[in-house]
Amino acid sequence: MRAGLKYPDAIARTSWPIELHDTPQGYVWEQFGDDHMHYVPFGALVSPETDNYVAAGRCIDGDTAALSSVRVMGPCIAMGAAAAHALDIASEGSVHQIDMGELKRRVHDNVERLE
Ligand SMILES: Cc1cc2nc3c(=O)[nH]c(=O)nc-3n(C[C@H](O)[C@H](O)[C@H](O)COP(=O)(O)OP(=O)(O)OC[C@H]3O[C@@H](n4cnc5c(N)ncnc54)[C@H](O)[C@@H]3O)c2cc1C
Repeated sequence: MRAGLKYPDAIARTSWPIELHDTPQGYVWEQFGDDHMHYVPFGALVSPETDNYVAAGRCIDGDTAALSSVRVMGPCIAMGAAAAHALDIASEGSVHQIDMGELKRRVHDNVERLE
C-alpha cells in the first residue's frame, strides 16, 4: 500500500492515509504524497474455501494498517460494486474462475485515473 502497488486484479483505489485508532493513547495518521494512490486487489475479497462468497468493505482481508485506509466509504462502495459484478459474472460458477478482463472492464472507472 505504501508503495502504491497496482495489483493486476485491482478493483478499487484510494489515497486515504493510514488512519489507525487502535490504542487508547492516540491515533496514527500517516499521509502519502499528493500523487499517491493505492489499490485493493480482488484477491482480498475472496476466500479459497468458498466459490460464491465475496466480502466487501471492512470485511475484506488485509493487515491492520491497510484496512485503516481502505475502510473509508469511497473504496467500500467500489468494493461492493466489484463484489456484485464478480458474482454476476460467476453466475452459477466459481468467483475464482471468472473472466477478470470482464470484471476489470466493469469497474474500470473505480480503478483508473480519469483524465
Ligand atoms: C464514527 C465513524 C465515523 C466515520 N467517518 C467516516 C468519514 O467521515 N468518511 C468516511 O469515508 N468513512 C468514515 N467512517 C468509516 C466508514 O463509514 C465505514 O468504515 C464504512 O461505512 C464501512 O462500510 P462497510 O460496508 O464495510 O460496513 P457498514 O457501512 O457498517 O455496512 C454494513 C451494513 O450491514 C448491515 N448488517 C449487519 N449485520 C447484518 C445482518 N445480519 N443482516 C443484514 N444486514 C446486516 C448493517 O446494518 C450495515 O448497514 C466512519 C466510521 C465511523 C464508525
